[in-house]
Amino acid sequence: MSKEIDYKELIKILPSDDIFQQCMHCGMCLAVCPTYDLTKMERSSPRGRISMIKSVARGEMEMSRTFADEMNFCLDCQACETACPAGVQYGRMVETARVVVDNTKYVSKTGVMLKRFLLRRIVASKNVLKLFSNFLKFYQKSGLQKIIRSSGVLRLISKNLAHVEKLSPIISEKFSDKEIPELVFPNGLVKHNVTFHYGCLMNTMFADINLDTIEVLKEMGCKIITPKNQVCCGSLMGHNGDMEFALKLARKNIDEFELHDYEYLISNSAGCGAFMKDYAHLLEDDPLYAEKAKRFSSKVKDVMEFFAEEKPELKFNLEFKPELTTYHDACHLAHAQKITTQPREVIKSLPGVNYTELEEASWCCGSAGIYNVVRYEDSMVQLERKMKNIKNTNAKIVLTGNPGCMGQIKHGTEKFKVDVEVLHPITLIKRILKK
Ligand code: SF4
Ligand code: SF4
Repeated sequence: MSKEIDYKELIKILPSDDIFQQCMHCGMCLAVCPTYDLTKMERSSPRGRISMIKSVARGEMEMSRTFADEMNFCLDCQACETACPAGVQYGRMVETARVVVDNTKYVSKTGVMLKRFLLRRIVASKNVLKLFSNFLKFYQKSGLQKIIRSSGVLRLISKNLAHVEKLSPIISEKFSDKEIPELVFPNGLVKHNVTFHYGCLMNTMFADINLDTIEVLKEMGCKIITPKNQVCCGSLMGHNGDMEFALKLARKNIDEFELHDYEYLISNSAGCGAFMKDYAHLLEDDPLYAEKAKRFSSKVKDVMEFFAEEKPELKFNLEFKPELTTYHDACHLAHAQKITTQPREVIKSLPGVNYTELEEASWCCGSAGIYNVVRYEDSMVQLERKMKNIKNTNAKIVLTGNPGCMGQIKHGTEKFKVDVEVLHPITLIKRILKK
């Protein structure tokens, strides 16, 4: 790709210099950046990356392998956005830059094709993902996984394949799209009309959390519509250089949910919720969808955000005594949606919960979408740090509101031998509900 095309591509999505001018170069973001913490190099910091993106976008710097690598080394955790006093929207810049670098000779074409295939053809296709998940379930349950792991054959094929295999979460017994009826009425009076987005990976790998969410919403007095033709939110594609496809999914979801009359769209996955709240921005230049996207995004709520606002008076089993519990902030809840106090308030308000704060709770665990798959070694550095902090709390339960973090921390419990149960907060609530 020529420099001219790089420039045009970037300018097309970053239409004015304003976005760059916002950065005052103050460096407040450096202390919270996991990649800067590792290398101590300016180019691995938010400020350094902004400067590089600006130079490439203005045609003052050649696209290079270093540029491409730095864009992909970034976890897109958006901790820098939370720390930034100027409100610089760094995430949008790096995601745009990733679209550009994926089209250059500086990233492996095979890698990009594989990533696109996995995300477009497997993750985004409900039926193919279910087929793939069924295959994985057979592999996990039949004993084949044990044999393959102990034989070390995957390591012989590729070290990365062996790592990725270990990251795969346990596939749910039943998938939630089949278990959740399209219309569910509450156990008492209808207080709210809500819709529910069950996600892609949540649907096959964390289906129980989806079912727990429906049960808790029912207790809260929600009439719940779960549109059958909803699709993956597109966040994994959008964060990984394939915004075009992500927006196709966004439009499909908007069309599907528009068929229903509802107050809130409830999501229990931080990554999905953050991305769906961003549809309004992502589609603001689309004449057909701008208004619809604005309406759609304004209704999206994370389930813990909703619970904290509603303060429902639920009937809890007062005999229940959960173990010492801590909380890890998913980046896309804490930094992208700025939801940090609400889950803590809810958790601490649960009867019998013994809560302890986690040090560096909002430091990325290294999952970061598919970062742990494509950059396993870098991701494990962050995970080791997270697991040390979790171990120091002596907690027996760690709560977090994102499937990626749950899978990653679960992997950490085995890899770093930390005895802790990883749960979604909604599952803890469901466990304490009076039967
Ligand atoms: S998104 Fe995270 S890793 Fe990337 S520059 Fe910001 S703080 Fe650093
Ligand atoms: S904190 Fe914000 S303004 Fe300061 S250097 Fe970082 S991105 Fe720029």
